[in-house]
Amino acid sequence: MDTVEAPFTADQAASIRGYQQSGVLRPFACARDDCPAHTWRGRSWLLCDEDGLFCPAPGCGYRQAWALAFMADWAWQGMRRAGRDRRRVRRLMRGAWGKARRVQAPY
Ligand SMILES: [Zn+2]
Repeated sequence: MDTVEAPFTADQAASIRGYQQSGVLRPFACARDDCPAHTWRGRSWLLCDEDGLFCPAPGCGYRQAWALAFMADWAWQGMRRAGRDRRRVRRLMRGAWGKARRVQAPY
């Protein structure tokens, strides 16, 4: 699964913001263990602008300068429509989050 690197275009940032709020798959969350905003399952969902994804918690400052390609080109909207095809969604999630874990490994 391909990744895209910041800086994002305005359209990519808008797509990523939409994805983060869509509930299609699990959104990116703050990777700081000591983030001051412990929300859902202890993590704060990231927001996104053209400089990259960032944690909205005051005083956190966590940033992530990449996203998965399907999050940035509106392809996730097609995945929403696949919501009833649970096998397909699980396969997409395994691919996406396997990649995310590999890329995020330094945290
Ligand atoms: Zn944070």
